[in-house]
Amino acid sequence: MENIVEVKNLTKSYKTCTALKQVSLNIKRGEIYGLVGANGAGKTTFLKILAGQIFPTEGELVLFGAHQQREQENQRKRTGVIIEEPGFYPQLSIEGNLEYYRLQKGIPGKAVIEETLKTVGLWEVRKKKGKTLSLGMKQRLGLAIALMGEPELLLLDEPINGLDPSGIIEVRNLLKKLNQEKNITIIISSHILSELEQLATVYGFLGKGTLLEQISAKALHEKCGNYLDIMVSDAEMYTMLLEKQFSHNHYLVLEDGTVRIFDLQQEPEKYSALASENGIGLRAMTLKQNSLEDYYMNLAKEGK
Ligand code: ATP
Repeated sequence: MENIVEVKNLTKSYKTCTALKQVSLNIKRGEIYGLVGANGAGKTTFLKILAGQIFPTEGELVLFGAHQQREQENQRKRTGVIIEEPGFYPQLSIEGNLEYYRLQKGIPGKAVIEETLKTVGLWEVRKKKGKTLSLGMKQRLGLAIALMGEPELLLLDEPINGLDPSGIIEVRNLLKKLNQEKNITIIISSHILSELEQLATVYGFLGKGTLLEQISAKALHEKCGNYLDIMVSDAEMYTMLLEKQFSHNHYLVLEDGTVRIFDLQQEPEKYSALASENGIGLRAMTLKQNSLEDYYMNLAKEGK
């Protein structure tokens, strides 16, 4: 898949501190990249660099294949941005705000307004003034503005911050829909990992300006969900039975021979019976759970 964003050794120093230190990562078309880090970790700085609002002190940025700053300016038309507050006019209605941005971006025809408001679920309330909107509606209006001009890439800084649980689900579902139906690549930041759960396809963990780890959602869930560690006398034989009898191939054999089984599809006892019924010695078995937040907290601690 094509890389939409490539950064190499990206560093950003402000007068008093270094907000990003040698960050290198790639983001592919179609991904929902969850940028996770505590307050001050450098998420906004990273997104501002991608959006062209500030420039890196050192390092390289390639955006839609463009290496040069001037060329990147052109490519930025393909991005929609919400950084810090979603920018809209409180005195204008929802519809009025979109009309303003339509003219500003030079998008011909008013049809785009109806289409965009229907996409974000604000068409019915289009006459409401910006200042009277709930936080969830404000976020959706911000998204509608960012979506004008059919962006291929969305840069969203904490769009879920402050929403109530139903608002979180609403925005999450909307972003999923945009990603799946329009193949929009999304880079979304949050200081709460669980907000991005079920949304991000890849996570980048930032801690004090450095990229602590990048991991796919699938790999993260393998590390974090319920899993069973089972120590048997013959791991090779046991995993063969696991695949044959339980059609289960979602496991790892650890260095000490422990078989770690993810996505448990049967009662834990069934996994021990599989060993004993086939003449394999069972030495130990533990059911474990690692929550996403625990995982992130450990990572952040190690980063220090
Ligand atoms: P938050 O969730 O609090 O916005 P963040 O992960 O987005 O955090 P940044 O806003 O990128 O982090 O800030 C990273 C570091 O850079 C912080 O220590 C912050 O105080 C500092 N910083 C950000 N902008 C500036 C600036 N314009 N001048 C000086 N320091 C800055």
